[in-house]
Amino acid sequence: MKLYEYEGKRILESCGVTVPKGRLVSTPEQARAAAAEVGGPVVIKVQILATGRGKAGGVKFADTPDQAAEVASQMLGMEIKGYVVEKLLVEEKLPIAQELYVAATFEEKTKGRLMMASASGGMDINEVAEQDPSKIQKVSTGNWVPMQAFQAKELAFGLGLSGKVGSAAQGMFLKLWDAFERYDATLAEINPLVITTDGRVVAADAHLEIESDAMYRQKDQLAALGILDRDDNSKPPTEFEVEALKIDKADYRGVAGRVVEFPGNLALLIGAGGGSLTLFDAILRNGGKPANYCEVGGNPPVSKVYRLCKLILQRPGVKGLAVMTNVFSNSRVDTLARGMIKAMLDLGIDPATYPITFRSAGAFEDDAYAILRKYGVKYLGREVSMEEAAKAAVRMTEGL
Ligand code: GDP
Ligand code: MN
Repeated sequence: MKLYEYEGKRILESCGVTVPKGRLVSTPEQARAAAAEVGGPVVIKVQILATGRGKAGGVKFADTPDQAAEVASQMLGMEIKGYVVEKLLVEEKLPIAQELYVAATFEEKTKGRLMMASASGGMDINEVAEQDPSKIQKVSTGNWVPMQAFQAKELAFGLGLSGKVGSAAQGMFLKLWDAFERYDATLAEINPLVITTDGRVVAADAHLEIESDAMYRQKDQLAALGILDRDDNSKPPTEFEVEALKIDKADYRGVAGRVVEFPGNLALLIGAGGGSLTLFDAILRNGGKPANYCEVGGNPPVSKVYRLCKLILQRPGVKGLAVMTNVFSNSRVDTLARGMIKAMLDLGIDPATYPITFRSAGAFEDDAYAILRKYGVKYLGREVSMEEAAKAAVRMTEGL
């Protein structure tokens, strides 16, 4: 579950991290009162489940309570990054000397956890990582032992922090780690962690995500902070996504769903052991324009594949279909072929002439290929890598 900034800050505060003095508001009048309470210049920030608010006009400043009310009335009701603004956080405006980045999360390489930090805070950390990875300090901690004081020290030194500020930063890193562990977070990020001109170290922003599978044991602790369990990991589902959800929910067998809508022309039915993510990335990397993301795996019945395939083919703007998977170990390839062909015949589409990239292999692949040949569909075998298959799908959509 993704948390709002104000929720993340409540968690951080409960673990001793210093956060700016402030208040959550939903009317201009409340914003005026909050600014008066803070007593000085304030920063006013939209509370939405997206980052990059600063660049999108979701972070503004005000010097007086009247100004705060004025700014709040402009921001409330605004649409930013697909969200309508209903709540604002009004906080003391920190006098910034330096902006740092720090986050605790999981690490693929070590199959463990890490804390990373950078002196290039306030920026998109992915951009920093791309431009100059040496600007990001990391300490890996494994899975069982929490981050140790010496590791916090290593991070602070790596950022060039020393003296009182260095000690304060180290303390902050350990408290952030504590929050990350105690709340079963998958990500606990502070960007920027601000060093103020008067030497305080304050979390100016907070981005936390809680592991959904841990909600059973986090519910009470979160509720005590006014954070309620909800199903809003992402934007509200589109009509198309709701339809797909219904298809997946109607039959418990196998995964055929988790559909996300995109504005492109290439319909996707992709999967097998993380293959869907790999393939989706490969399609984007090669310049393709997906119309949707749709996973298959876990041996779904033909009926499910058929209904989903029909749905994604009917989406306006779709001009080609890619059915691609890793080598299946627990699903039947012929299921995909059968579902796909039935969907096309139902829609009056001729499989022999419709642009299709089919690359799936594994159990019952010979049956699948026999069906495809019968309907005149060309297919790629298991000797074609997923990257090559993605390239082929992108080439196919050129000129469509
Ligand atoms: P994000 O863009 O959604 O990550 O929102 P942030 O809360 O991180 O704010 C974006 C940027 O606004 C920060 O990197 C700062 O440069 C600036 N900012 C936020 N809060 C303050 C503040 O209290 N004082 C000052 N001077 N700048 C702030
Ligand atoms: Mn931020």
